[in-house]
Amino acid sequence: MSQFFSSKYNRLTPYTPGEQPKDQQYVKLNTNESPYPPSPKAIAAAEKAAASLQLYSDPECRDLVQKAADVFGVASDEILFTNGSDEILNFAFMAFCDKEHPAIFPDITYGFYPVFAALNNVPFAEMPLNDDFTIRVSDYVNCGKTVFIANPNAPTGIALPLADIRAIVESNPNNVVIVDEAYVDFGAESAVSLIHQYPNLLVTQTFSKSRSMAGARLGVGFACSDLIRDLNTVKYSTNPYNVNRMTMAAGIGALEDAEYFTNNCQQIMKTREWTTEKLINLGFSVIPSSANFVFAKHKKVGGKEIYTKLKERGILVRYFDKEKLRDYNRITIGDPKQMETLISTLSNLLEEVI
Ligand code: PMP
Repeated sequence: MSQFFSSKYNRLTPYTPGEQPKDQQYVKLNTNESPYPPSPKAIAAAEKAAASLQLYSDPECRDLVQKAADVFGVASDEILFTNGSDEILNFAFMAFCDKEHPAIFPDITYGFYPVFAALNNVPFAEMPLNDDFTIRVSDYVNCGKTVFIANPNAPTGIALPLADIRAIVESNPNNVVIVDEAYVDFGAESAVSLIHQYPNLLVTQTFSKSRSMAGARLGVGFACSDLIRDLNTVKYSTNPYNVNRMTMAAGIGALEDAEYFTNNCQQIMKTREWTTEKLINLGFSVIPSSANFVFAKHKKVGGKEIYTKLKERGILVRYFDKEKLRDYNRITIGDPKQMETLISTLSNLLEEVI
């Protein structure tokens, strides 16, 4: 830290992104990216947009917003696009949290929430999950705090039914409830349709996973127009051109290719079920997942050992060095060939270790 770094960040521990080593070609199952490329329509649109990069992007993202309004069945003033969904989550901490509106989220969830809270000087409560890693809904009902729920949750992959989301939103009319649906397209129920009933609900989604655009950085939020206006106040006070031209064009291309999107999601869910069965046969317990990853623990070998031995053999998975999670690995669902490689490698290394 230099002598110039503001003391307001004294206690800030930044988020640690999944590793992206370049020393060799890995089978990369550690950051929940899609194994499939973006839709050809998204690629073509981004290529075309590259020719106009001398011009700023449209700060209102009008064409993209219009397309999303059609696809998601909401009005154009109920949508905000951002630079990845991380940005809209940060905007939500900035806009809807403070000392009078502290944040609340599970102790096991997306690791960026406590970082955004610390960055914005927001007090927060981290609530333990149940022993089976499900979210204890009663902790959030009538809690009087700004609630952040990842649905499905990460890194567990467990989804809450919409009735539970509704109970949380309905019982906290004086606080915003943010439902982070980064993984919703892999088998959970979306709360987007509820935004017309609840003025305190913000639903965020991302193009990083189910639409294969992690490198483009495109996130989106859905909420009543008043909440979107608040988020825009924050956006226009930080970075009005937060979505670049190529990403905006690619986003429209991706939304136009519904068939490609649906097929990829279905393929990933099918591969997830295959992988789950094979992992169970190898002695893992696997939490039933509604996401594009599984969270798995071996009955005899610890999470760190599996992570390290897989890495030595050219496969990256995610290990969390955190109490309660040390027995586990989070494994992104890749394409069938990648998962066959994972299973055969695991089978060999378990034979050596046990
Ligand atoms: N929410 C959750 C639960 C996530 O796992 C991620 C991805 N790391 C994000 C939000 C942010 O994704 P992105 O910024 O790529 O949209």
